This record gives sequence, structure tokens and C-alpha cells, in this order.
Amino acid sequence: MRAAVITEYNKNWELKNVSEPVPSAGQVLIKIKASGMCGTDLHVHHGIFELPLPLVAGHEPVGEIVKLGAGVLDLKIGDRVGACWAQKACGRCEICQSKMNPMYCQGQQSWMQLGGGYSELMLAWAEGCTLLPEKISYIDAAPIFCAGYTVFSGLRNAAPRPGDRVAILGLGGLGHLALQYSKALGLETLAVTAQENKVKELKAMGAHEVILAGEDPGKALANAGGANIVLSTTNSAKQVSQVFAAGLRPEGRLVNMGVCPEPIQINSMNLLTTQTKLIGSTQNDRKDLVEALNLVAQGKVKPVIESHPFDKINEVRERLSAGKVRYRAVFSLS
Ligand SMILES: [Zn+2]
Ligand SMILES: [Zn+2]
Repeated sequence: MRAAVITEYNKNWELKNVSEPVPSAGQVLIKIKASGMCGTDLHVHHGIFELPLPLVAGHEPVGEIVKLGAGVLDLKIGDRVGACWAQKACGRCEICQSKMNPMYCQGQQSWMQLGGGYSELMLAWAEGCTLLPEKISYIDAAPIFCAGYTVFSGLRNAAPRPGDRVAILGLGGLGHLALQYSKALGLETLAVTAQENKVKELKAMGAHEVILAGEDPGKALANAGGANIVLSTTNSAKQVSQVFAAGLRPEGRLVNMGVCPEPIQINSMNLLTTQTKLIGSTQNDRKDLVEALNLVAQGKVKPVIESHPFDKINEVRERLSAGKVRYRAVFSLS
């Protein structure tokens, strides 16, 4: 089977034939049908996780189960599934014993141990697989396994109340889904973007208003009345700091889902006088993923996807790195 193998950091991934993996007890083998590319894959490419090589990345994989390891009782051959990032926790640490989110477990198993979705066949822990709703295509389901799941949990973690005004900062792969999920939950939703050429599309996706960020997206948002919730998916610490300083209404919450290389600056006087909150957020437990998938299956959220053949993986990674992927790139495999 073919896989895109990282043999050296910062070098092109090698598309090569590798031996077919065999599922161990508790694992399944998935024939990958679609696989999304996430900004985090760029961090993997640059070696910031310091994982042993060779390695196959890709954490938005969906496909069909073709083999079951021993003891897999709940899944069947032919099931349509996707695998999320944290597939299996250690089961023994205090976090696991308390049944907390497996993302917090230091011994969690993910694509990092088993190999990711940039391959024709992929191993996954059965308990890390989620069944796809009937009415969702593979290509639409793929980006929900990281981008959609992450922003849906981010929205939940902001604890929206009826009447809250939500602003999305950063309107790419994650942000365009955050916008649609917020709208689907009936919240007034604003988009804050520096890209003037996205205004029409963002309105078509359901933004009540699109605010052009200019030099200071915080001031731009404040001029538009501010927000109770900001869902931030940008990697710019400067923009997060500006929006936290000026764009939130009193008691507002900024949910940070971007990996910012620079530190986020917070003015402590502003923090205490406004009683605002900065919330870090990745993925909550699996019910958020199921709900996020269902909203796509119901047609209330539509990922905006550019689809590519698998053998274009290096070109697409470079496009993503150069900021040329408008929303989400997904590879389709047969
Ligand atoms: Zn991701
Ligand atoms: Zn654990």
C-alpha cells in the first residue's frame, strides 16, 4: 500500500509502497477514502513534535473498516468511520481513572504511534473510531475530525448564552467551520478577517457581518459593537492580544485554538476591570464530534473543500504553508 512517509523533517514526504499494517488486539484497519490536511501537519513537517522518523502524518482520516483485530466487538467490517487525534488513553493514570478527556492523558495513543491518514490503509484503535452518520460524504466528514471537532468544542467551552454575539477571528480551515457552527446554534455571528476577498463568501456562509481587521482587529471589532465570545483560530499572537484587549464585551470569553509562536500579551488591569476570560481549547469528549458530524449530515454546516489526488500531497502542503489553501484541502483516495 502507498503512504506519504516523512523520512526527514523539512523535506518532501516520500510517496512509497510500504507493507500492509496488521491490526493488533483492539485495533482496526481502515481503507482511507478521504484525508484532510490541517495546519498542525505543517508543525509535524517542521519537526516541532520531535517524533521518531519515519512517520506518516494526517489526523483527519475517514474510510471503511476492512479488518478487525482480536476482541473488537462494537465495530464491523464495512463500517464507515473516522479516527480522531486521541484514540486511546492509558486507562491507568489519575486522569483516566477519573474518566477525564483522553486528550489530557500523558500515555494517550494517536496517529503518532500508529501512523496517520496519509496512507491507503491506516491502523486505529477501535475506541478511537467514530461512526459516520449515513448522510455525510467521506470528503465532507474528513475535516470534521480535527477542524470541525476543535471549533465545536471551542464554542461549547465558551458556554454561549442565548443572545450572545460571537466573533470568529481567523477564517480558514477551522474558522469557516466555527462561523457555520455558531450560526447553526442560532447565535449572531461576525467574521473578523484581514482578507477583503473573502467577504462575499463569508456572508454566503452565514456571517451576519464581516469586519475587516485592518491594522487592529480588536479596535475594528469594538467599533462594530464588540463580542461576548471570540473564537480565535489565528496563529497571530498580535491579533489575539489586540482582540482580547479591545474586542470583547465585559465578561466576554476569548477561546484560543491557534498555535501562536509568539506570546499572547494581556493587560492585567484590563483583565480585572472587564472580568474577561482567555480560554485554551482543543477537543472535548466525543459527544462534541458526534454533534459536529450530525450538523454537517443535516446540511446545516458545509465544509468548503478543495479536493486533491493523494499524489499531490507535497504540492498541497506547500500551498497550505504559503496560505494559498482558502479553507480546507482534503485528499480523496479510492
Ligand atoms: Zn488538526
Ligand atoms: Zn491515562
